[in-house]
Amino acid sequence: MGINEDSRVLPENEKQAEKETVSRNFIELEIDKDLSAGKVAAVCTRFPPEPNGYLHIGHAKSILLNYGLAKEYGGKFYLRFDDTNPTKEKTEFVDSIVSDVKWLGAQFDGEIKFASNYFQQMYEAAVKLIKKGKAFVCDLSADEIREYRGTLTEPGRESPYRNRSIEENLQLFDDMKNGKCADGSRVLRAKIDMSSSNINMRDPVIYRVAHMTHHNTGDEWCIYPMYDFAHPIEDAIEGVTHSICTLEFEDHRPLYDWVIRELEYPEPPRQIEFAKLYLTNVVTGKRYIKKLVEDGTVDGWDDPRLVTLAALRRRGYTPEAIAEFMRLVGVSKADSSVDYAMLDYCIRDDLKLKNPRMLAVLDPIKLVIDNYPEGQIEYLDVPNNLEVPEMGSRKVPFSRELYIEREDFMEVPPRKYFRLFPGNEVRLMYAYFVKCTGIDKDENGNVTCVHCTYDPETKSGSGFEGRKVKGTIHWVEKNTAIHVQARLYENLVDEEKGVYNKEDGTVNVNPNSLTVLNDSIVEPALAEYGPGDSFQFVRNGYFCIDIKDSKPEAMVFNRIVPLKSSFKLQK
Ligand code: ATP
Ligand code: MG
Repeated sequence: MGINEDSRVLPENEKQAEKETVSRNFIELEIDKDLSAGKVAAVCTRFPPEPNGYLHIGHAKSILLNYGLAKEYGGKFYLRFDDTNPTKEKTEFVDSIVSDVKWLGAQFDGEIKFASNYFQQMYEAAVKLIKKGKAFVCDLSADEIREYRGTLTEPGRESPYRNRSIEENLQLFDDMKNGKCADGSRVLRAKIDMSSSNINMRDPVIYRVAHMTHHNTGDEWCIYPMYDFAHPIEDAIEGVTHSICTLEFEDHRPLYDWVIRELEYPEPPRQIEFAKLYLTNVVTGKRYIKKLVEDGTVDGWDDPRLVTLAALRRRGYTPEAIAEFMRLVGVSKADSSVDYAMLDYCIRDDLKLKNPRMLAVLDPIKLVIDNYPEGQIEYLDVPNNLEVPEMGSRKVPFSRELYIEREDFMEVPPRKYFRLFPGNEVRLMYAYFVKCTGIDKDENGNVTCVHCTYDPETKSGSGFEGRKVKGTIHWVEKNTAIHVQARLYENLVDEEKGVYNKEDGTVNVNPNSLTVLNDSIVEPALAEYGPGDSFQFVRNGYFCIDIKDSKPEAMVFNRIVPLKSSFKLQK
């Protein structure tokens, strides 16, 4: 299903009905066929990350797709680290990936799997191919191999080493394994077809020599399998039935099938490709994120402006919102980009009914109600969420001195400004009508305090039916207020310029992507909450207590998303 078919806002019952009748995606259709033809008995999928960076929103698509299929068909879902390349892999990444997959709610079956645990079986598989006359040791250099490979329009040429005897190949492969060959001096290649129209089938390299320490197997091996050879073997060993990957592997599928066929696995896994998720104006490439982290443009892999899962979690996104986003995006066979605003829509929609609505003033200015008794404090009843009465209400202190948003007062208002200005009356949300009677200014002419008087008859909930006011503003009581830091985010990318600088390949960073407000104010009830908790701040958007920097005595709030956006779901 695509955005257009399934993204209308429907009442719950209709939504449910629609879900049931919605057409199945092409992967489900293929799986249905395999099941009904008796090709597979039970579905098994996997998520196979390379532990060379943090997961991002694109990976979440693959995780939820694979996990969702296993769940839908009552099958199995594995988390497998594709750690056959010893150069870039790190244990730090393994840990972050496991916690991200768990956070998304994708429950994997059994132990976490590591492709490197199958090195022995992969080695044996290579020996099997040599014995069948389907693989040979080649002494051409990397450059020569490339040159012999041919192009899209010209066939390749056979390596002069292609016709070595099986015995010689076995001996040389043994030498490679036993450390007798220098890195790059020899490789093992599959013997397929140098004139194939598919370049991947032109005697691809399947093993290389690399004297490198591996994060899991240490120095046990000095030969390592190539991805295209290793991946089908990993799938076959684990009993994966549907090996779901992204479109760039479509041309590699014949090789995947060749490896499975030549190794004679009794229950051959099957590769199916889908389109990657791309978001507009967002940095997803690991290489680019890494650079932003390393040069200090962002504060680590979990900087809330990134779209790594660690960053989205820190920003306050929920797994439910991400899952709904993926459902709306659907699964497709053609590449396309999704507007980031759709993700914002999903998080708002998820938090709207879950979170309490609290009072916070981001950019405060003092308001004094001159006719309110000094020293008196009232506790007003404020509903926690107007749309969810079961969430109850809380008592919010109110007194003579409050904070309001600086932008809710103007000394000289423009037309249609209905908030506070000299002589105007507004409602203080959940409290009274107040009328502005004057202001204090500092020596530079800046307004430091707004004075007003209140009308005790107008108390909210008292049934007052006298005059009406056009503006309602929010506030926080001054003496009980908590002083906090608020962090507001804009897109990390300068949208006018596009994500990447065409000349030097760097990211075009928006200089205003982070605004730190050090003088924000929140109501005292927030003291009860801790890192990771999220709220709606009336009129200011959804916020989450930062899991890294917030402390009870110095709270830090991240804005997850403002309340409104220009984004509309298409009808
Ligand atoms: P990147 O290009 O960001 O480095 P990758 O493909 O190299 O990503 P892997 O760790 O190899 O990262 O990916 C693990 C799995 O996630 C693969 O099956 C891959 O196809 C899938 N995947 C990666 N990016 C996306 C994406 N944008 N949308 C959907 N699936 C993705
Ligand atoms: Mg990759």
